[in-house]
Amino acid sequence: MAVTEDATAIAGELTQLRRAIHAEPEVGLNLPLTQQKIVAALDGLPLEVTLGSALSSVTAVLRGGGSGPAVLLRADMDALPVAERTGLGFASRIDGTMHACGHDLHSAMLVGAARLLSARRAELPGSVVFMFQPGEEGHGGARFMIEEGVLDAAGQRAAAAYALHVASAELPFGVFSTREGPMMAAAEALDITVTGRGGHGSQPHHAADPIPVACEIVTALQAMVTRRFDIFDPVVVTVGSFHAGTTNNVIPDEAKLEVTIRSFSPQARALVRDSAVRVVHQIAAAHGLTATTEFTGSYPVTINNDTEARFAAGVVTDFLGGDRYHPQANPMAGAEDFSYVLEEVPGAFIMLGACPPGVNPGTAPFNHSALAVFDDMVLADGAALFAELAVRRLTG
Ligand SMILES: [Zn+2]
Ligand SMILES: [Zn+2]
Repeated sequence: MAVTEDATAIAGELTQLRRAIHAEPEVGLNLPLTQQKIVAALDGLPLEVTLGSALSSVTAVLRGGGSGPAVLLRADMDALPVAERTGLGFASRIDGTMHACGHDLHSAMLVGAARLLSARRAELPGSVVFMFQPGEEGHGGARFMIEEGVLDAAGQRAAAAYALHVASAELPFGVFSTREGPMMAAAEALDITVTGRGGHGSQPHHAADPIPVACEIVTALQAMVTRRFDIFDPVVVTVGSFHAGTTNNVIPDEAKLEVTIRSFSPQARALVRDSAVRVVHQIAAAHGLTATTEFTGSYPVTINNDTEARFAAGVVTDFLGGDRYHPQANPMAGAEDFSYVLEEVPGAFIMLGACPPGVNPGTAPFNHSALAVFDDMVLADGAALFAELAVRRLTG
C-alpha cells in the first residue's frame, strides 16, 4: 500500500487548501467560509457528510467494504484573535485574525486523509468518521459535536479516536510525538470579584477596601499551590488580570481578578478548583468582605489511552521510521478540547513538528504567536499518518 506516494501526489492540492483557509481565518464556533472550503474539498468522495446545527462543523463518514468498527479522526478548524505578522504570501487577509495554532493545516491534512482512505474504501473492514471541528480555542466545539452525535456518526460508537496537532517550534520538522497518559493540561478560567464598600482614601475605617484583600488572595493562591499540591502532580495558578479603582484617593467598591488554572490529573484538578474557591471566599470573609467566584470556561485533562498512544507511536515508527518519532517526556501545559473525545473513546493526541526546515525549533515562535510559521511540507505526511492510523486500527 503506497499511502505515502498517494499523499505526495495530493500534496499540492492540500497546500492550496491550507493556504486558502489560512488567508481567510475565522474565530469561534461559526466558521462558514472554512466550512464551505472543507465541504467543497470533500465533494465527489464517497462520504456521508453532515453539517452541525449549533456550530459550523463538518462530519463525514466513510463506510468501508466490511461492517467492522469505526475509527474517528479529528481536525480543528478555528483561528485566533491574533494580528498576523509572518509576512507570508498567503498571510491572513482578515484584520486581527490568524491561524496561529495551525488548525488550517489540520483541516487540510484531514481532507487529505479522506481522499486517501476513499481511494482504498473497498479494503477497509470498517468505517472512518472525519470530525472537522470549529471552536477549539476556548469555545468547547468538541463538546457540541459530541452532543450532536459525532462519536456515533457511523451508526456505532467509535472504537478509537486520533487527533494530530502541529507545532511551529520545540519539535523538529516532520517529527511526531506523543505519550501515554496525560498529554495536555486541564485549563480553568476563574473570574473573581471581591466586593467591599468604597469610600474616601483618607478614611479606610469607614470603607471596606477590596484592594488589600484581593492582594492577599493573589499571594494566598500561590501559597496554596506550593503547600497543598504534590510536586509530582503539579498545578499552575496565574492571576493574569487584576483591576480595581480609578484614582489614588478613592477606595473602590470592588476588585476583579481573572485567573487561569492548569492541572494534569483529574484528582489535582478537582482539588485545585475547590481549594482556590475556598481561599478566595474565606480570605474575603476574614476581612468582612464578600467575593464571588465563577468558572467561565474549562477543558478537562487530555488523557491518552496507554494502548492507543503506544499503537500510534508504533505506526509512526514502522511507517515513517524511528527518527520520525520522539517520545514526549512530559505533558504540555496547554489545553485541548479533544479531551472531551478522549473521555468517551480511547485514543491519542499526537503532536507533529512543522517548524520550517532551517529554522531552530528551540527558538522559533511557538503556536499562538503572531510570528508562528507552520511549514506546508508536513501536510502529506500528516494526511498519510491519519490514513495509516485508521487503516491499521481497522485491520489490526
Ligand atoms: Zn491553540
Ligand atoms: Zn491548537
